[in-house]
Amino acid sequence: MNRPDPLTRLVEQLQRLPGIGAKSAQRLAYHVLKTPREEIDRLADAMREVKDRVTYCSVCSNITDVDPCFFCTNGGRDPRVICVVEEPENVAASSARMAGATRASSASSKSRRTSPRLRRRGTSKAGTTS
Ligand SMILES: [Zn+2]
Repeated sequence: MNRPDPLTRLVEQLQRLPGIGAKSAQRLAYHVLKTPREEIDRLADAMREVKDRVTYCSVCSNITDVDPCFFCTNGGRDPRVICVVEEPENVAASSARMAGATRASSASSKSRRTSPRLRRRGTSKAGTTS
């Protein structure tokens, strides 16, 4: 297929994303081509902003845009109680579950909010899969 070089480069880059195979990459690239410039600028800006502003909390290794993170600066949490999660994306889910659990049991005891502690995996880069 004779594709303009920039489009080919975009397909190649999209294909490097997890869960994106050759067909999806091509579909997304053509979507980018057809989408108004402002919308694509917002997407590109959001990606850049994540790389520029999101970092790891120096206390608990949670992902954050302020260091220490929201959990570590929350005085209502007991720092002696920790919740260990494997990946940063699990913090939101377990935090929501904890909120539900403490809401359900808060009538009987003083709620003990937990702070997340992450067990960060090595930066093993998986081979290219599609
Ligand atoms: Zn933290």
